[in-house]
Amino acid sequence: MTAIRFTSMPTDQAEAYRAAAPDANGHEPEIHVSNGDGINCRHCQEDVAEGERYLILAHRPFPRPQPYAEIGPIFLHADPCARYPETDRTPAMFLEREGYLLKGYGPDDRIVYGTGQIVESAEVAEVASRILDRDDVAYVHVRSALNNCFTCRIDRA
Ligand SMILES: [Zn+2]
Repeated sequence: MTAIRFTSMPTDQAEAYRAAAPDANGHEPEIHVSNGDGINCRHCQEDVAEGERYLILAHRPFPRPQPYAEIGPIFLHADPCARYPETDRTPAMFLEREGYLLKGYGPDDRIVYGTGQIVESAEVAEVASRILDRDDVAYVHVRSALNNCFTCRIDRA
């Protein structure tokens, strides 16, 4: 079993989006007010409470555009929040969702075929550890199983 850590969006990137830095499509992040229904922040890994402001933006969680560098929508608190600590503890919010899509990527930021799978929330850490047992995998991406929204990365501890 490879030791893991959950890696959320870096704070400087979240701060840049809050300061209206262009998203992956070159647009200013949209500002909305949460209705409290399943709006989860990719920086603190908590839900945005009803009445709180949040951003919707297109995020590309890869260092540069290339065929495997998927772009998709994410939510972020519009106001400062505490980044989820880089530990092996599965964020509590995950356990309220039914499942996640996990995929291993190589050092070239491309999918390592054969690693992709949909897992129950409680199994995310264990399956990510097994994927990271492979020498050809550099990191794992966690996405919503239903909406494919990027959630976080999982790295070796
Ligand atoms: Zn947050």
